[in-house]
Amino acid sequence: MVQEKAKAPQPPAPKTPAQVRRSSAARAVTLIGDRWTLLVLYAAFMGVKRFDGFAAMTGVARSLLTDRLKRLETGGVLERWLYQERPPRHEYRLTAMGRDLYASALMLLGWEMRWRFDPDCPSHRIVHQTCGKPLKPILVCKACGEAVKARDVTLTSGPGAGLEPAPRARHSRRASRDDAGGSPLHPMLERGVEVLGDRWTAHVLAGAFYGLRRFKDFQAELQVASNILTDRLDRLVERGMLERVVYQERPARSEYRLTREGRDFFPVIAALMAWGDRWLARSEGYPEILTHKCGARLEPEARCGACGGAADVGNTRLDAPPLGELSPPATDPRSARG
Ligand SMILES: [Zn+2]
Ligand SMILES: [Zn+2]
Repeated sequence: MVQEKAKAPQPPAPKTPAQVRRSSAARAVTLIGDRWTLLVLYAAFMGVKRFDGFAAMTGVARSLLTDRLKRLETGGVLERWLYQERPPRHEYRLTAMGRDLYASALMLLGWEMRWRFDPDCPSHRIVHQTCGKPLKPILVCKACGEAVKARDVTLTSGPGAGLEPAPRARHSRRASRDDAGGSPLHPMLERGVEVLGDRWTAHVLAGAFYGLRRFKDFQAELQVASNILTDRLDRLVERGMLERVVYQERPARSEYRLTREGRDFFPVIAALMAWGDRWLARSEGYPEILTHKCGARLEPEARCGACGGAADVGNTRLDAPPLGELSPPATDPRSARG
């Protein structure tokens, strides 16, 4: 559990608009925490660049795909490149900001592999080209090299701490397998997408790492409607990431605690938070600071569990590409930005 040393100064929140605590992880989830967005990103990491390629690989309906590509472009994660002049044709490339999300993607895969390893799942068979072994992605503290665990990390307010307007709940509907519509991609990422591909599920889980346990505390912190909160808490209990513990008998009251599997999701949150700090922090600075037990501000880094070397978009590849035309993600320096 992340211990919280000092809370951000919290002025009384006005009734409208709802205010939530500034958090880089929450900002990251607001930008990418959507099922279709994650699938599009996954395809981009697999080297897909063109609209038809995204459509084929993700199975996302074209109107939704257009919307998500646009949103990722606006957010700075993808950029549009003219690859043909007559008639004009564009492709989408990961920006430096987009490629930097790879560590978070690896952490999501690593978590899936630890808890629901499926040898038939292509995305569970990534090879670390540096050592040639199957990649078991781990997140380590850059300063001391130790694997990052929630219990070894302390959260304090950063210079950018405070409140900001709550993100609008655009995707409040429960995401389900049925939404996927028979894409060849979904079986690979099902678990991770269930958690991170629904913004409120991800926010609720992140809240649990902030030490939230009781319904009313989640509600106050996240400014979420109670029916949505009930649904997401139930879902996380069903998935084995939270457990409901009775803390008072009369009247009956229960609270939600992270299970081992739930706590093990922390590297995903920590990687997303670091990404949000790098790309979404505003002029006022980081909203929060994670300090590792070694005393250093936590700068997490994705590494290969076998050889300890850095794992990045340039030195990892799928062992068996699920679709014929897949190639390693491009690392074209011209598409760098920021
Ligand atoms: Zn450390
Ligand atoms: Zn390795």
